[in-house]
Amino acid sequence: MNYRELWFKNNESNHGWYTCAKCGKKIRKADVDIDHIIPRKHGGSDRLYNLQCLCKHCNRSKQASMKDTIPDLAKANHQRAVKAVKNAAKSAKKAVVKKISGDGKKKK
Ligand SMILES: [Zn+2]
Repeated sequence: MNYRELWFKNNESNHGWYTCAKCGKKIRKADVDIDHIIPRKHGGSDRLYNLQCLCKHCNRSKQASMKDTIPDLAKANHQRAVKAVKNAAKSAKKAVVKKISGDGKKKK
């Protein structure tokens, strides 16, 4: 699997639309450029954590510069952290609901 396929496999579209990680523009799959946050020529890998979805305009303006790499990585890490917290909250809520409904059954 190439890195583009990998990214699309792990990022669902919103009814066929994707969001540019830089400008927030909604773009169709054909217009999505999968960008290496750390450019490959600087040792960046093809792994998911080094990939982001950019519109063609943003990717062209970025090219292989390292200028945006640190904010990009910080943002990607932040998004991952937010997601992890949300998932934890969700499963905690589920556990509580399960417990409550479980207790309810016992009383009957
Ligand atoms: Zn863009």
